[in-house]
Amino acid sequence: MCDKYEPSKGLAILKCKCPQCQSGKLFNFPFYNLNKFTEMDATCKVCGLKYEVEPGFFWGAMYVSYTLTVGIMLILGGLILWLSNGEAGFYGYTIPIISCMILTAPLTYRYSRVLMVYFFSPFRFNPDMANKK
Ligand SMILES: [Zn+2]
Repeated sequence: MCDKYEPSKGLAILKCKCPQCQSGKLFNFPFYNLNKFTEMDATCKVCGLKYEVEPGFFWGAMYVSYTLTVGIMLILGGLILWLSNGEAGFYGYTIPIISCMILTAPLTYRYSRVLMVYFFSPFRFNPDMANKK
């Protein structure tokens, strides 16, 4: 028997939860709310953790977002190449890839910030903070 409960870090990243308590939400609105999907509290509502480690911390998320977008482009380009046997043509690649980039922009924006908080900040899961509320 496991006497110490530790939730899944991967699941917490997928659900955009706070890295310290893994209960509080990082974003106030769902990603499909296109007017407010970027809104994020400065601190966690459950444990009070301040997400921004230092001024400009989330500028680094721009590089994570770039990496995610290039990964999506490569996978989609490879999929089109495979499905069309290399005969898709210029617009056969660019239109689906650019459409996919635009459609996934809210997700890449959010997950770049989530990955930034999880992997480039000193915050780790703390079971005492999870039960604070
Ligand atoms: Zn928290």
